[in-house]
Amino acid sequence: MVQKADKIWFDGKLVPWDEAQVHVLTHTLHYGVGVFEGIRCYVCSDGSSAVFRLQEHVERLFLSAKINEMVIPFTQEQIFDAIIETLKANRQPEGYVRPLCFIGAGAMGVFPGDNPIQTIIATWPWGAYLGAEALEKGIRIKTSTFTRHHVNVMMTKAKTCGNYVNSVLAKREALADGYHEALMLDAEGYVSEATGENIFMVRNGVIKTPPLGSILAGITRETLMILAEDLGYTVVEDRFTRDELYCADEAFFTGTAAEVTPIREIDRRTIGEGSRGPVTAALQDAYFKLLRGDNPKYGKWLARYTI
Ligand code: PMP
Repeated sequence: MVQKADKIWFDGKLVPWDEAQVHVLTHTLHYGVGVFEGIRCYVCSDGSSAVFRLQEHVERLFLSAKINEMVIPFTQEQIFDAIIETLKANRQPEGYVRPLCFIGAGAMGVFPGDNPIQTIIATWPWGAYLGAEALEKGIRIKTSTFTRHHVNVMMTKAKTCGNYVNSVLAKREALADGYHEALMLDAEGYVSEATGENIFMVRNGVIKTPPLGSILAGITRETLMILAEDLGYTVVEDRFTRDELYCADEAFFTGTAAEVTPIREIDRRTIGEGSRGPVTAALQDAYFKLLRGDNPKYGKWLARYTI
């Protein structure tokens, strides 16, 4: 159960958490055309707080809206500032931020007409998405019976609410079968991503990740690629199959919520030594240092705030 904060920013105003309500004929509730972001903020080692890559998340929110032909009635700067304002109002030094733009009530057909585009920003404390132990020991995953979206069925570059029906189905199946997460293949059978994470594999020191086809262009994915190159690794964006993945020395997921989570088993095959591998450990360490403000090269990626 999500831990309540004091306020939710709703169409320009901070309202008490319990009063952030919508009408049951909200268009998005029926047809799934809404766009959202998942953002994290951390306490830095100097005691201040920082939202990680806030600018990029806000930009992606607006691109998701553009793809879905939704016009957000605020500027990117206003949403950026509203996120900081909400974190401060909730006195939240660390946690998760969820902006969501949705089509409000009005027309009830599939064509949303001029129904209002509404925006909320919620924040709440949220620990490790796949559990604290997962970050250290790694997780067990299983190839899903659900295929990831074909690029002409759903707009996979947008973080659209309705896209997540596929994720929820796959996640439920993976958990019911005793796994931590689902591995999803694209419509051609190549490894795509997970229900809310991008995937990387490591073999013979080379790091590989699927190209931007059916996957969401993860901000953590991009961050990890940059950090890996800084550490001297070669990173290749290329398609690979599940059997190539079975032979990996290491594999890991990336995502704002999941951060850098090692994968220790795929479809009953142990990956590497069945624990967090050295490349994953090095990248995880570099990622957490960056988030905590200990990598001055990327200070620009931290939107600092004090409560
Ligand atoms: N793929 C999907 C489907 C996701 O929902 C997410 C989480 N936003 C990611 C990948 C990872 O993206 P990011 O690193 O930007 O959080």
